[in-house]
Amino acid sequence: MAYTSLYRRYRPDSFESVIGQDHIVRTLKNQLASGNVGHAYIFTGTRGTGKTSVAKIFARAVNCLHPVDGSPCGKCECCVELARPNNFDIVEMDAASNNRVEDMRELIDKIGFAPTVGKFKVYIIDEVHMLSAAAFNALLKTLEEPPAHAIFVLATTEIHKIPATILSRCLRFDFRLVPAKLIAERIRFIFDDIGVKYQSEAVDLIAAAGNGSVRDALSLADMCVSYCDGNIDYNGVIAVLGASDPNKLRELATHIADGNVDGALRLVAEMCDLGKNVALLANDLATLFRNTLYIKHCEGAAKELLSLPENVFEGLKQLAQKYTAQRCLGIMRIFSKLEGELRYSSQRRILFEAAVVQACYGDEESKTEELAARVTRIERALAALRKSGFKPTPAIMDAKQVWIHVASRLNAKGFALLASCFRDCKMEMSDSEFVICIPDAATKKMIETKSNVDALKAAAADTPEMGGRTLSFREEQQVSKDIALPYVQDMFGKYLDVK
Ligand SMILES: [Zn+2]
Repeated sequence: MAYTSLYRRYRPDSFESVIGQDHIVRTLKNQLASGNVGHAYIFTGTRGTGKTSVAKIFARAVNCLHPVDGSPCGKCECCVELARPNNFDIVEMDAASNNRVEDMRELIDKIGFAPTVGKFKVYIIDEVHMLSAAAFNALLKTLEEPPAHAIFVLATTEIHKIPATILSRCLRFDFRLVPAKLIAERIRFIFDDIGVKYQSEAVDLIAAAGNGSVRDALSLADMCVSYCDGNIDYNGVIAVLGASDPNKLRELATHIADGNVDGALRLVAEMCDLGKNVALLANDLATLFRNTLYIKHCEGAAKELLSLPENVFEGLKQLAQKYTAQRCLGIMRIFSKLEGELRYSSQRRILFEAAVVQACYGDEESKTEELAARVTRIERALAALRKSGFKPTPAIMDAKQVWIHVASRLNAKGFALLASCFRDCKMEMSDSEFVICIPDAATKKMIETKSNVDALKAAAADTPEMGGRTLSFREEQQVSKDIALPYVQDMFGKYLDVK
């Protein structure tokens, strides 16, 4: 028996099994449920996102006698008949190979005939942007006055090439790139179904390589199944992709980080001699630095987003410490620019080597940015030090001076009132202790709440000038006497002998 590709074998046959296009599926189901179906649709989006599959499901659903939640039941006579490849009511045309006006006429000439099985004849025209101008004109005439039993579904990857006159007569649906996570789920389901063993990270890698296209990912999965012989692991997928060995890539990135031109060029030579394509290498390097940037900025989320094997992830984490975000961005710039240049050059290896050397030296722009970032960091650190009362040479301070620093900490933390309570208190300081003498019962009562004591202790612990001394209080009726004495002397001085 001929081998059927995974993509064809697991082509969705109901709306439920379409992945990543919920917005489209929901709208179509609503139209089917309300009987409010259009006569012309245009499906646009990247290849492999489900345009033709959805068109086929829709074509059967609109004819099904007992639809199940909007999807074709697969059992009624219409479903059974329309499932046959050569039925007369679902007409598929590939405009890539039938783009002449004669092809279009041939299709349209028979449009007057009523459907043989169900209520509608559905015309699915793939790659519709390939039609010639004359063919588009012929199609337009039909779209202006379609028979009641005809529905057109036009599919295209290049919506901008469709004449506005055609677009204005169609309901437009934009198919989105399918998230790698959903593709991975689908691949796991399929591998389980066909009884293939797999490493989870290997499946994630296949899904990511699909770049949003289910078809591309499943073709790759097909290749991996044959290559890996029933047990799909990460390295097997890397080999099928023709991607670079992650360890070698990381080694190259380390040389670049260290500015080790000699080491980097030797490694490039080694990889090229093994037959590595430099365009792929440039792409892999750009991806590596992008991943590094992810790890630098959001390590927690990066683990889930990148879905790399543990050892590859840990390796990148170490690499990330060697790079600033600016440097990563600079290198990404070098290699993504290179990708464009490689396309038109016959000196690919030389260009690639030049880019590696440039990356080792660091590009001018990122050097300037790095310097600016460094200056900002130093300024910030200095400001923080100044705020904390840092003085370059240690000064010998008495208890009152030390207290001023503690008080400014308290102020900064929103305890200005508390700080002011001690302004006139006597303070004493030994090598290990810092004592505040509390003059009266009112102040004592005020500071004795737990939150105040905690705030004081925290501020003291945060103040470097305290030198780790423990803070304590002592009640001492001294300050109040000092304040009262001048008044008393002033009022009664002549008559009173104060002792
Ligand atoms: Zn049915």
